[in-house]
Amino acid sequence: MQPLILGIHHITAISGDPQQNLNFYSGILGLRLVKKTINFDAPDVYHFYFGDALGRPGTVFTTFPFVGAQRGKKGVGELTYTAFSIAVTSLDFWVDRLKKFGIPVLDRLTRFGQSILRFEDQDGMGIELVANAADQREGWTYGGIPLEHSIKGFFGATLTLPRKELTERLLVESMNYRLHDQEGNRFRYGIGGKPGEWVDIVVDPNGQRGVQSAGTVHHLAFRTATTATQLEMQQRLIQQGFGVTEVRDRNYFLSIYFREPGGVLFEIATDVPGFAIDEDEAHLGELLKLPDWAEKSRVQIESSLKPVTFEPKNYV
Ligand code: ZN
Repeated sequence: MQPLILGIHHITAISGDPQQNLNFYSGILGLRLVKKTINFDAPDVYHFYFGDALGRPGTVFTTFPFVGAQRGKKGVGELTYTAFSIAVTSLDFWVDRLKKFGIPVLDRLTRFGQSILRFEDQDGMGIELVANAADQREGWTYGGIPLEHSIKGFFGATLTLPRKELTERLLVESMNYRLHDQEGNRFRYGIGGKPGEWVDIVVDPNGQRGVQSAGTVHHLAFRTATTATQLEMQQRLIQQGFGVTEVRDRNYFLSIYFREPGGVLFEIATDVPGFAIDEDEAHLGELLKLPDWAEKSRVQIESSLKPVTFEPKNYV
């Protein structure tokens, strides 16, 4: 039987200026803007989806860029670092590329035997590039990054929590994860051992709590295959006492949400239908796409959004 949870689906963050956000994730990191839409719960804010060629589950970093948003603070009770996966031969390329665009590498570390570059986006969002040999995914390039050095998708995510026991129980007993490794106060959980699924818990009982605003992650979404497996997960979570939402239609997937015991908002999102449902694969992300219910307000919505442009040739 296929497990109900297959790994990470997407990670959604709160950001500041939308143009700077686009410049960083599509320009410098070279992730494909696969969808430009609105925050369905706040239609005067964009929702950008960045990923591989098709925005496959496990590659999609999404942002709500609020113009003039205050900066938040990474801390306990949050997803503190989003890790992307690169080839082992790509580390020097990324050191040079980040330098070229004025992004300081804040730390170069080794964890579980893998080399990692740690840096932040313009809002202070914690990003890591993990060099690993296990990732066969192709990645995406706008042309400025050789395909062999492109980001392949997520490696995993780090949750910084005051304690791990209840979150571990949720991951292990309900979400197909198992404890895979430990290094100091970092505990790594995986499903089948593939990049794109790792969830690390860093236990920090005395750390300061995070403040959720620009530069912090809003939620972590896990993959489930279909609406049927999603409903099965919903029932399982309800039985275990979690306050799970109803199924919400996010156009490109269906979602349920609940808060894990450490304080991080979790989502479970379906792999289907995906981002090609309302745009041709060759033209993903080019136009502002709205859900049907918002189309009647398109003129008003467009006038409330700051126009953004992206020129790949500026990021060669
Ligand atoms: Zn989400």
